[in-house]
Amino acid sequence: MTGPHATALRFELVVAPSIPLALPDPLPDGGARTWAPITSTLLLGEHDAVLIDPPLTLEQADAVGHRLESLERRLTCIVVTHAHGDHWFTAATIAERLGGVEVVARAGVIEAMHRANDSRAGFWDRILPGRIPASPVIAVEAPDDEVELEGHRIRLLGAGRTNTDPTAVVHVPDLDLVVAGDVVYDDAHLFLVESDKHGRDAWRGALNMLEALDPAHLVAGHATRSVDIDPRRGGCSRRRGGTWTTSTSSSAPIPPRPGRTPRWSSATRVERTPAPSGAARWP
Ligand SMILES: [Zn+2]
Repeated sequence: MTGPHATALRFELVVAPSIPLALPDPLPDGGARTWAPITSTLLLGEHDAVLIDPPLTLEQADAVGHRLESLERRLTCIVVTHAHGDHWFTAATIAERLGGVEVVARAGVIEAMHRANDSRAGFWDRILPGRIPASPVIAVEAPDDEVELEGHRIRLLGAGRTNTDPTAVVHVPDLDLVVAGDVVYDDAHLFLVESDKHGRDAWRGALNMLEALDPAHLVAGHATRSVDIDPRRGGCSRRRGGTWTTSTSSSAPIPPRPGRTPRWSSATRVERTPAPSGAARWP
């Protein structure tokens, strides 16, 4: 434990299942457009709690709020890894519901949150009309990009450009845990629209940083498990045989898994980008 008076600490996940989008046109294979499952992480001390990456819709926020209330913990802080709305648009709603909650993010992420709000009407409110609450940017920087939970250090580490720019991961040394946001996906297709080849090179660099941290537990921002708060199962990847269970290989086959709309958006972006010789192309 970090401090001489640090209390017991554990974590659990709340995974919001995939939801249909209000888009009339189906995917090219005829399937419905859906948004990928979203992982929120609860760090639980004996009395207090920290939430990492609040979800997207009012219903999803209600599930997180209900879980925190049932655990009888006081939520002290919400940490945001990156500015995509599916990882923070309900931050102010949850903070207001539970009271006395500070929202923190790295400086570059806070700037990007303002830009995300500027563009939400043209995207998020179109695909999920009426389901996303007001999203004022109330996040502040934490001193040294660290927050504390009952004596335990929680570190926000810059991860640079991965599925957007910038991103961060959350390292909790006393749990040997990294909450990776969208640096890592677990059995859901990567959102590649904002990363060109060089962006994916940076993404691989961020994965190298995670490998150097060598955590026992790694939480992905998008995971396919249904609501499952068992940290040994839902959305939590473990290192196996020296490799992570997820990768950003752009030449890997695209599996028919949740995250179908990001899959298609990514595929059309890759199709528009000249492929280097020998690289796999979208059929
Ligand atoms: Zn995401």
